[in-house]
Amino acid sequence: MNYIHNHLPTDKLQALDAAHHIHPFSDMGDLNARGTRVITRADGAYIWDSDGNKLLDGMAGLWCVNVGYGRKELVDVATNQMMQLPYYNSFFQSTNVPAIELSAKLAELAPGDLNHVFYAGSGSEANDTNIRMARHYWASLGKPSKKVIISRHNAYHGSTVAAASLGGMAFMHAQGGLPIPDISHIAQPYWYAEGGDLSPEEFGLKCAQELEAEIERLGEDKVAAFIGEPIQGAGGVIIPPETYWPEIQRICDKYEILLIADEVICGFGRTGNWFGSQTFNIRPDIMTIAKGLSSGYLPIGGSMVSDHVAEVLAQKGGEFAHGYTYSGHPVAAAVALENLRILDEEKIVERASNEIAPYLKDKWLDLANHPLVGEARICGMVAGLELTPDKTARAPFKTPLGTAGNICRDFAIENGLVMRAVRDGLIISPPLVLTKPQVDELAEKVGRVLDQAHAKMR
Ligand code: PLP
Repeated sequence: MNYIHNHLPTDKLQALDAAHHIHPFSDMGDLNARGTRVITRADGAYIWDSDGNKLLDGMAGLWCVNVGYGRKELVDVATNQMMQLPYYNSFFQSTNVPAIELSAKLAELAPGDLNHVFYAGSGSEANDTNIRMARHYWASLGKPSKKVIISRHNAYHGSTVAAASLGGMAFMHAQGGLPIPDISHIAQPYWYAEGGDLSPEEFGLKCAQELEAEIERLGEDKVAAFIGEPIQGAGGVIIPPETYWPEIQRICDKYEILLIADEVICGFGRTGNWFGSQTFNIRPDIMTIAKGLSSGYLPIGGSMVSDHVAEVLAQKGGEFAHGYTYSGHPVAAAVALENLRILDEEKIVERASNEIAPYLKDKWLDLANHPLVGEARICGMVAGLELTPDKTARAPFKTPLGTAGNICRDFAIENGLVMRAVRDGLIISPPLVLTKPQVDELAEKVGRVLDQAHAKMR
């Protein structure tokens, strides 16, 4: 008998959870009062809770289960690798076969000359690595004063002290005295909320040009890198105007600062290509990966590094005094490699991009006709809705921020759909293996949720 009791009654599980388990990004008082949702199993695009309720997982877990749940191949690979070599580290000139092969496969898939990987256990850790690596890179070139990393307000780059500092979430900075020094933040390209009377194109350019102004303000000799998510995910699926990334790229090139693309959400097929950098024509020097890398089956993240950065580190950097016990974990690497094989051989990225995303797009953009929706936006298999009481003015609600979003999120659960509320908006990021009938189900449920919320809020 093992220690996992999947069949305990829900109230017992909830009581144990409330007594002993502190949850991420949760108000524990509120959570304990309302009772947590206990998820017990999953298959394909669906999850089930401990009361037997079936939910369509519109968030692919936490933006990560790209191949869907229940892929036995991943289980078999993990089992075999655990028998063969459950753990060994990659410090001090050691390596292992899955980490070697995963690195080679990633180099093949990644855009440009991102041919090298430094592994981490998560996206947050990988972004910590990026800060240290970017600074170490410049120090190795004799420019140790180039330390500042420029990021954006409302960006999300993780939850460690450094990654949360890189992120631009004010409510996170407010807890624990963040950000750490030498991180600065510029505007986000969030046209719907902040674009005012400018066209999206004008606004995209204006936001990007803040990077140039910030480099000038700080001094070029102080700036190490710019980091951005190709599409801001946790910030609310903010898809930048077309003018944004080309201008960011131009500025990074002009001032020779490193461009770090945080592809923790966008990577591995989410935006219609393997990487968001391909969708937006970005040429990153460093790229953060996690989540879809293993479809969330095991924790793994990493920093993909371009030839020119890796070469400087190898030739001038000496020992990089940085690493995690689980960097290149053999079981996580084996599962990630098998996940990439599934994505690749089953052409999941191509199918999602050519068949499912366009089908979803039609239905999603239709939701913009609902009286409660101010904007519907979508790129590949990630999408957002802005809720408003007055669609002509892109106006906010008079209720406290988040009220309308949470009402919809709760109705979604009642209707058997997981979607996430961000402020007064709703976002989805479903498994890439979604079928057309499941897209129909998703769109129909979102429509019903909006009707219910509209009736309640009148
Ligand atoms: N970067 C981005 C863009 C993310 O969305 C996330 C997580 O949502 C992270 C980094 C942090 O990844 P992790 O939660 O694996 O530490």
